[in-house]
Amino acid sequence: MTQSITIDQAAAEKQRQEMSEKKFADQPWLDPDNKPQIVIENVSKNYGGFQALQDLNLSIYKGEVFALVGSSGCGKTTMLRMLAGFLEPSAGKITIDGADMIGVPPCDRPVNMMFQSYALFPHMTVEKNVGYGIKRSGLSKQARAARVEAALDMVQMTSMATRYPHQLSGGQRQRVALARALIREPKVLLLDEPLSALDKKLREATQFELLNIQYKLGTTFIFVTHDQEEAMAMSSRIAVMDKGRIIQVGTPADIYEFPKTRLVADFVGNSNLLAGVIKEIAPDGRVTVHCPEIGMDLVVDDHGRFREMQKVWVAIHPEKIKMSAEPIEGAGLNQLPGIVWELAYLGHRTVYQIKTEQSKLITVFVENARRSTTLALRWNAPCFISWAADSAVILTE
Ligand code: ATP
Repeated sequence: MTQSITIDQAAAEKQRQEMSEKKFADQPWLDPDNKPQIVIENVSKNYGGFQALQDLNLSIYKGEVFALVGSSGCGKTTMLRMLAGFLEPSAGKITIDGADMIGVPPCDRPVNMMFQSYALFPHMTVEKNVGYGIKRSGLSKQARAARVEAALDMVQMTSMATRYPHQLSGGQRQRVALARALIREPKVLLLDEPLSALDKKLREATQFELLNIQYKLGTTFIFVTHDQEEAMAMSSRIAVMDKGRIIQVGTPADIYEFPKTRLVADFVGNSNLLAGVIKEIAPDGRVTVHCPEIGMDLVVDDHGRFREMQKVWVAIHPEKIKMSAEPIEGAGLNQLPGIVWELAYLGHRTVYQIKTEQSKLITVFVENARRSTTLALRWNAPCFISWAADSAVILTE
C-alpha cells in the first residue's frame, strides 16, 4: 500500500530509533533550535461582553500530545475551536507552521478535529463515514478506496467496514471517528474529550492505542480532557487553565511535583493543603511554616522565593505521607498525631482520612503492596503521620 498513513513496523521501529538518538527528541520545547509548530500569541476571545479567554500565550511543538485541562467553563473548548477555525479570536494571533491562521477557514487549515460525540453519520457505513473527509479531495475513486482501507487498517476496523454506527460499541465508534479525522493527514489533530464516552477499562486500553497511532504518524495531538489521570498518562505537556487563562504549562511530572498554585495542586492529585505563614527561611533554603490549622510548624525544602511573614500554603500529595500506629523514628518535625476518621479500601491502595487534634482532615494513600485482607489501621485508631521536608511544596497563591 502506498499511502503514507500506513507505516510498517520496520519503518516505525527505525523512526523510534532515530527519535531516541536525537537530543531533546522527547522534549522539543527545550531545544533552542527548534521552532514551535503552533504559536498562540496574546489571544483573547469575547462572547458579547463576556471574556472567555484572556491574553493566552502558548507554543506547541510538532509531534507533541498536548493536553488542555481545567475546570468546566475555563475556555478549553473555545481554545480548541479557535485552532480548528470554527471561531476567530477577538484579539491576538495564531500561527501554524509559520502561517497566520486568522481568517483561514477550517477546511484550509492543516488541522482536523475529532468531536466528543464522534459525530458519525448514522446513515453511512463505517467505510463511507471514513471516506467522507476525502470525498472532495480530487483523488481518484480507487485512490480514495485505498486510503480508506489503510485508515481502517490503522484503527483495526477493517472487518467492520460495512457496519453502521449503531452496530458498533463506543470504543469502535471512537476508532472510526479517529480514522475519519486522520484520513486527511492533518498536521495537527484536535480531540475534544476523545475518550469520555468509554468506560474506564476501555478508556485505558484506548489511551495506549491512540498513543501508538500518534507515535507512528508523528501528528501533533492537542486534546481536551476533564480526567487528570488521562492527561497525565497521555501527554507530553499539559496546560492547566482557569477562568480563561493558562496558569501553568509543563510536563505531567512538572505539574504534579511542582504545581504553581493551589488550583493546579488540587487538579493533579488531590493535594493536602495546609494554610500557614512563613516563620523562618534558613540559609540552606529550608523554610519553616507555621500552620495554625494543625497547631504546629512544618519544615519544607523548597528553594522558591519567599519572605518571612508571607501567607502561603503547604501542599503534600497523599502518597507522600507515611502513616503508622507508633511515632515514626527520625521523621523529624513534620510528624503529627491523629485518628483514622474515614477509610476506603480500593484494592491497589487504601485511602485514609486522618483527623488531627485540631480537626483538620489529611488524606493519606497507603499502597497495598502485600496480599492481605487485614487493614493496616481501622476506624478511630490513633496514629501518626509524617512526611519528608522535600516531599511538600510551598504555594503562594
Ligand atoms: P467544559 O469543560 O464545561 O466543556 P470549557 O472549558 O470547554 O468547558 P468553553 O466551552 O470554552 O469551556 O467555554 C468558556 C466560557 O465561555 C464558558 O463560561 C461558557 O459559558 C462561555 N461560552 C462558550 N460559548 C459561548 C457562546 N457561544 N456565547 C456565550 N458564552 C459562551
